[in-house]
Amino acid sequence: MSSTVPRVTALDTYDIRFPTSRELDGSDAMNPDPDYSAAYLVLRTDAADGAEGHGFTFTIGRGNDVQVAAIGALRAHVVGRPVDELCADPGSLARDLTGDSQLRWLGPEKGVMHMAIGAVVNAAWDLAAKRAGLPLWQLLADAEPEWLVSQVDFRYITDALTPENALRLLRRGRAGAAERRTERLLARGYPGYTTSPGWLGYPDEKLTRLARQAVADGFTQIKLKVGADLHDDIRRMRAARAAVGPGVRIAIDANQRWNVREAIEWTNALAEFDPYWIEEPTSPDDVLGHAAVRRAVAPVKVATGEHVQNRVVFKQLLQADALDVLQIDAARVGGVNENLAILLLAAEYGVPVCPHAGGVGLCELVQHLSMFDYVALSGTTEDRVIEYVGHLHEHFTEPVHIRDGHYGAPLAPGFSATMRPESIARYSYPDGEFWAADRATKDDDGDDGSEGAVA
Ligand SMILES: [Mg+2]
Repeated sequence: MSSTVPRVTALDTYDIRFPTSRELDGSDAMNPDPDYSAAYLVLRTDAADGAEGHGFTFTIGRGNDVQVAAIGALRAHVVGRPVDELCADPGSLARDLTGDSQLRWLGPEKGVMHMAIGAVVNAAWDLAAKRAGLPLWQLLADAEPEWLVSQVDFRYITDALTPENALRLLRRGRAGAAERRTERLLARGYPGYTTSPGWLGYPDEKLTRLARQAVADGFTQIKLKVGADLHDDIRRMRAARAAVGPGVRIAIDANQRWNVREAIEWTNALAEFDPYWIEEPTSPDDVLGHAAVRRAVAPVKVATGEHVQNRVVFKQLLQADALDVLQIDAARVGGVNENLAILLLAAEYGVPVCPHAGGVGLCELVQHLSMFDYVALSGTTEDRVIEYVGHLHEHFTEPVHIRDGHYGAPLAPGFSATMRPESIARYSYPDGEFWAADRATKDDDGDDGSEGAVA
């Protein structure tokens, strides 16, 4: 008997790091020198179509090897799975990964292990969408509501959202979906905003120039990093407001820098420049702290989510009226299935979702989730924008397309997760061409290499 059922034959991992810290790209009050990195994997199959599933999670340098090891720890759950079954029900993989009774001790459902699960689950969705011949957003938007509900793990959230209510939301989302897809999304795209002007390490001249450029490029919102020094922030905020004028929204982002009282005082000290939202004012685990900040800084909105661990914490943030803007991240939580739960929770509570993106490939991934949400769930882009940062897109085979401040809908099959082979080779750490050459340069300078490319 020959086994003709195509299966997953390998889960290959890669530690990929980009030297972004040298330009202060991505610098903020908590992360002064990030090297944007991807803990990356490829699910290989023996399917006749040769399809592969690509996925990754994002880190900012040191520790990317830990994240890669965590992905590798999931290998036995994936290799050998029949490809057709996996693609028909990625939720079964998500449940098996989060349910591993020994690995679960490392979370459960939070941190390095949960992010590893997200990378693997997202790779399975990439494989499913490629085999279906559809971009992921369209696969999700075309799916039967009952099937989408079956993809969600409702454990721990039924006090806020039942499967019945989720089904009701998805059926409601179907009304007008075809028109939204064709006449709005494919014609115009999904609105974005840009963080590129606002990195903390940029001088005022660069901030002003990039803020003006953002408006000229059609963006109606920009974002500034804040929280290191109040006098600097007042000066930078004044410069940004002068550059963009009164009609453009300026979000501010403290990246968890403050205690609750400090968050309130600092945000109110910047209120005269009309900030639209304050993002990550304090610890992402502090639900009640966010609620207190929200009450004290209104009408400035409170946004968070890029470090929120899972659907359970998002549930509490919503139940506690702790946020105005919910920021999903495609690679922080356990993949598409976990994000479906979070999008449904946001829809149930009527809170707009404005995804976190940037990093490496996060724009490429998360656009699919917002576009699904628009076409087939929330049905609106009002007060909704996807973050955009203009770094590192050239390393992907299907980079995002930004036009007039909008994300163009991706049309290629898959999750836009595939990185170019030459980029993987060049930036693999520590032995890819870039890092090997970098180490050699440091050795030539008389450095003993012990601190070269700090590991
Ligand atoms: Mg942020």
